[in-house]
Amino acid sequence: MWSVPETPSRYIDLKCGNRLELPALFLHPLHHEGKILRETILDTSAQTQHVAGFVISMKDWPKLSQTLYQPTIVPSPRLQERVRIVDPELHLLFTGLDSDKRDLLNLKVTSGKLGDRKIPEAKKNLRDTVMAIAMQEGLSQPSKSKQYVEELYPFMSSILFDVMRYLIDAGTETLIAPSVPITSKAIALKQIEMANRLSSDSKVLFASRFANYTSSTDFMVMIAVNAHILENTEFCERLIAMVITTRPDHVGIKVLDLDERDVPRVEAVLKFIANLRNAIDVFGRQIPIHIFNVREFGYVTFCHGASVIEMPIARKPYMHINRNNPTDPSQLGRYTHPVDLVDYTYDQLAEMSAMNGLPCSCTPCQNRREIGDKDTFNEFRKKHFVCLKGGFEMDEIHKADADSLNIALRDKFGRSKQTGLVAYLERIVAVP
Ligand SMILES: [Zn+2]
Repeated sequence: MWSVPETPSRYIDLKCGNRLELPALFLHPLHHEGKILRETILDTSAQTQHVAGFVISMKDWPKLSQTLYQPTIVPSPRLQERVRIVDPELHLLFTGLDSDKRDLLNLKVTSGKLGDRKIPEAKKNLRDTVMAIAMQEGLSQPSKSKQYVEELYPFMSSILFDVMRYLIDAGTETLIAPSVPITSKAIALKQIEMANRLSSDSKVLFASRFANYTSSTDFMVMIAVNAHILENTEFCERLIAMVITTRPDHVGIKVLDLDERDVPRVEAVLKFIANLRNAIDVFGRQIPIHIFNVREFGYVTFCHGASVIEMPIARKPYMHINRNNPTDPSQLGRYTHPVDLVDYTYDQLAEMSAMNGLPCSCTPCQNRREIGDKDTFNEFRKKHFVCLKGGFEMDEIHKADADSLNIALRDKFGRSKQTGLVAYLERIVAVP
């Protein structure tokens, strides 16, 4: 007789009653993508079955609560059974676009607009403090980061309760602890210390003021970090220690500025995920690692210890903090090719599909057959994206043998135009 080695659980039960099949995919719609996402999930249920949940930025909740969930009509089980995570995304106050900052500052929380918050230590309110730093010309990014730390940190503890109240009222099924981003090596220790303090304060508040929700809501610690920070061993160790001491149900990692062509940096990110996974396993608890804001690169992280990835809909991930960065010149957005795994413009796709039609067999593509009008292209390409990722691709990942997912992914990337990712799939470094 021999005993069969126990395979690690491929499922995780959430306190809300949902069961997640790992690895899992969540989608992150922007404020104007609620209707498209809703329709795609309701119309093509067979091809979107692997969309395990939605991550909604807190600043977008007022709109998405109406367009995605439409609470006034009969609730739809197909939408309700998807896990709902409302993400505070407070890092936007420090690193976001000015428009994101304003949306967040104008959000109505229990005590008024978030930006109206005043504290005795500061002359200006939160809004004026944030915008004064953001609008300053000729200030280097490190100096800006330093100024944010000095002037914004005093506000953070004072908004903690209101932000958590907002997330709970929005019905989040996993509460993400409000946090600050870690962006600059020179002040990283200060930033990590603040992130650590906010995470543990949130945990204490959650267990006391929100005690009624602790049995039905999971708790997540969020690490929002610039990729280069993860090249430093000491910073990584401190971040891992923060997770271990806070004892969350989940941990989220949001890499704010990853350039996938930067090999040492990508390796640092993957190594951090794997080290975090191993540290959690030593600690002996099943804590899923969520990687936020990734596209196909997220599949690679499944072989390095990540359990869940959160993906934007048919757009590039990774917010770059440089306000001078050019925006995507193709107003129509891009179509994600199912084999090449890259995004093509309307004109490129028109040329490619002129002979044989669209290269994909999802329902939106089959119904459309050809590239069609520019007017409806945007809506179409997003519906296609949801079916491609939440249907076909996650289906392939679930069907692959967990022990050899790296080989299945190597084949897939090897046939695509993202062959650079093959190098990170030599072996499975850590399992979720
Ligand atoms: Zn398609």
